[in-house]
Amino acid sequence: MTRALGFVLLLLITSQSTQGFSKENHTDKVDGPGIFSNSGIRGPKYRDQIKTMRAIARLRPEIVKTVEYGVSIKGNPLTALILESQNMPITKLALVTGATHGNEYLNIADRLTEALLDSEANVLENYLASGGALIVVPIVNPDGYERRRRGNARNADVNRDWPNSKNPQPSEFKQPESQALANLVNNYLSAHPFTGLNFALDYHCCVDGMLLKPWGYEKGKYMTQSESDRYDYFIDPMNKYFPKPGKVGTPPDLLYTADGTTLDYWYDKYGAVSLTYEGTQRRERNNLQYHVLWWEDILRNL
Ligand SMILES: [Zn+2]
Repeated sequence: MTRALGFVLLLLITSQSTQGFSKENHTDKVDGPGIFSNSGIRGPKYRDQIKTMRAIARLRPEIVKTVEYGVSIKGNPLTALILESQNMPITKLALVTGATHGNEYLNIADRLTEALLDSEANVLENYLASGGALIVVPIVNPDGYERRRRGNARNADVNRDWPNSKNPQPSEFKQPESQALANLVNNYLSAHPFTGLNFALDYHCCVDGMLLKPWGYEKGKYMTQSESDRYDYFIDPMNKYFPKPGKVGTPPDLLYTADGTTLDYWYDKYGAVSLTYEGTQRRERNNLQYHVLWWEDILRNL
């Protein structure tokens, strides 16, 4: 074929593979090798995500370690950061997760730990020194993340796999990524009997910074007023720090009924303040500073 025809074909192939996103409308300065997400935000390869986590742990070994808590269908090591003070009874636990839907990467959950450690306010250090622990799983679904896919390698939705005592389906975990994460938290709580799971935030994309709270499994189900007040204590700082905070409400009221989510699971099983944050298309990564301020308030208030 001629060089011109080849060029046209290459253009066609390139524009198809980006599925609506192109370098031209991708305005953030994260171009280069890596994984493009439906959020419009590009991220490092999963193995580089792990390298970053290990580097953080090497830098602060007294309070940070990496844990491989399972294996994805495609053999990726499911990896978490655990932050805690040594020889300190753990009395508080918070959980941060991202890319449970593999194509909803925000570049927030994977930078949050370092940003909190770098913050001059030292809130994370004080939280750890007072018996707090933090589990961070930046990429819950690495197979989906690497293929820019919502589901895992079986194309199963990892955020519809979480059982709920209030609803018969799903009745048990069917996906290794969700089962392993549930085990990680459950095993941590078994090993640290003085704490429960106090707070969980799952980062998704993208509905303009919307914040979802339980219940999601059925329309018209709401937590009690006192529970709602307990949630507001952690939600209000978001409204204070974010220049354009999104709507707050239940999934059925704001989006759609979603059964089998982490949102309902952490609240149902452990009574945690459990939230799902739906980031802002393309721009969420620029909000890291606001997430840090919000998280500092969360950790102060736990
Ligand atoms: Zn999602």
